Amino acid sequence: MRRRHRIDQARYDRLKRMLVDRERDVVVRLRALRRSLPNEWAELRDPEERGSHRCAEEVDFALVEMTSATATRIHEALARLDRGAGGTCVDCGGAIGTRRLRALPFTDCCLACQQRREAPAAGASTAFGRPAPRPARVAREV
Ligand SMILES: [Zn+2]
Repeated sequence: MRRRHRIDQARYDRLKRMLVDRERDVVVRLRALRRSLPNEWAELRDPEERGSHRCAEEVDFALVEMTSATATRIHEALARLDRGAGGTCVDCGGAIGTRRLRALPFTDCCLACQQRREAPAAGASTAFGRPAPRPARVAREV
């Protein structure tokens, strides 16, 4: 079975499976996170009382937000895949590397374009002698 797509069927299947697996993970994680958020937090009206609860819950809320964002990206990636553009960089149109897709199946750009996106706009003048982007940045992006 061949499709008139930019990616072949094997790659499509593999990517689809990765995305569906990842989606399942994210849904489970979101459900668990939402359950772990204390209901009383929303009921605390006293700012001082709220303050004491804040740190831990803020982390949870941030996690929920990040996980929701990941879910959205997975849905977008699945939509792109069904349009025949899965695993293709939206910036340069090139194929996204298999290793990158395995780590980030929902990514919409190749490594080179990702680095370009993360580089400051004035990157051209500061490109020399600058250290490579730190892994922490990439991790946050995930
Ligand atoms: Zn690219």
